[in-house]
Amino acid sequence: MQKVAAYLLERTEDLQTPGARKAEGDRIRKVIEAWLRSKGAASVERAGTYAAVDGSDASYRVTTASDGDRSWTMFELTEVTKEGRRFVTTVSVTVGNKHVVVFVTMEVGSVSTLITRIDVDPRCPKVVRELLEQPGPWHHGASRLRVLSVVSGFDAGQSLAQEIQNVSRTIPFVVVSTIAGQTALPKLDAKLASDLAGVANVYTVDEDASWALTDTLRKPFSCYGGAVRVYWPRLSSQDEPYRHQLWTAARLQGLEDDEQFALDRIRRQVRTVIMRASAASVVRPVEIDDIRGAAARAEYATLKANANSLDDFKALADSYAADNDTLRRDLAARDKELEQFRGEVQRLEAEKRALLYHLGQANAHSEDGAEVEPDRPEDDDGAQPPTRGDVRFYKKRYDTPTHDVLVRVADCGHNSWQSSARADKARKGLIRLEGGTREWRVMQHCGTCTGGGMWRVQW
Ligand SMILES: [Zn+2]
Repeated sequence: MQKVAAYLLERTEDLQTPGARKAEGDRIRKVIEAWLRSKGAASVERAGTYAAVDGSDASYRVTTASDGDRSWTMFELTEVTKEGRRFVTTVSVTVGNKHVVVFVTMEVGSVSTLITRIDVDPRCPKVVRELLEQPGPWHHGASRLRVLSVVSGFDAGQSLAQEIQNVSRTIPFVVVSTIAGQTALPKLDAKLASDLAGVANVYTVDEDASWALTDTLRKPFSCYGGAVRVYWPRLSSQDEPYRHQLWTAARLQGLEDDEQFALDRIRRQVRTVIMRASAASVVRPVEIDDIRGAAARAEYATLKANANSLDDFKALADSYAADNDTLRRDLAARDKELEQFRGEVQRLEAEKRALLYHLGQANAHSEDGAEVEPDRPEDDDGAQPPTRGDVRFYKKRYDTPTHDVLVRVADCGHNSWQSSARADKARKGLIRLEGGTREWRVMQHCGTCTGGGMWRVQW
């Protein structure tokens, strides 16, 4: 089996008492049971069958274990299509010592052995959306899971930039930039938010907020003008900018003649990229194995305490043997999974090399493939630090309360450079852009350019 997506939804607030955690676990299980019933399961006990939408062979199994106040319940749904493809979705609820955690995995495989990468287009399971709709905050590690967030204005953009840089962020952020309130494709932000519910946070930013992203993250890591960008956790200014995929508005709008087809393609692309990452990186909560281990040990202890005859001990030995078999099978499955991930890493490495090659071939050209290649991020204005004697031109593009946001531009061609004593915000903007350690010799502004904010700087 190949894991195609994994979700971790955590309840962490107001759960100090075992009673509160148990009640939350019960509430969550009810949502999952209702989902299972909505699929046609007659009961939600132990095991049974249900009617899959596409006529697949569909069955489910419920497994539970407990250890004192802690408990674990797993719902495993298996669907086998007529073509022999097997889809397994597991949804487990763990009531732990501190939190209540929902862990969801989606796997795909074949009934017969087949050594090939299976192309699937995983979708967010309905139960994940239903759980997220329940009142109260959900977390994934340190990050709070959110529905579509609208970020407007420079200050809000600055806060988002800080959240993007936050080293403890655990989930990808997807930023959809707008021009005059419009996304590059109709409702792109809402569609992506719906696709990525529980696995990434989606933000719509207006132009002012985009300026704040440019100002804080710098141009190679910014997102503006209708572009869409994925910001992976632990973003660093040392990262290669294309590690955080960017699709420009021109790319998105040029994908297909039909907007709807274009929308479908980019949605699939972003979904695949993020879900694949979740499958590889979301770690199964350790408390699950703690609880299961403790429950198994308790069961053995009871058997042992009550064993009087040779037959009883024989039964005990049998149950050990049965558990050993299960563990061996699990271990073999993990080995296989590991092998698959190794293959995946190699494939991604190859893809990366190919991507680098394409980027080297100047601007990416459009292809009719299913994959929507990311665009090359724009270079940093301050990438090459100025050296003594350089003359550079800057234009104020945005005004913040503390400094001007400057970008490097070409000479405006006027010849009316004037010294300016009161240019504190421009000076701060220049330091921000070109680094604080370098000193310029002359900073003059253009007296002819309308709107002001055109600077000539001699370093
Ligand atoms: Zn000028």
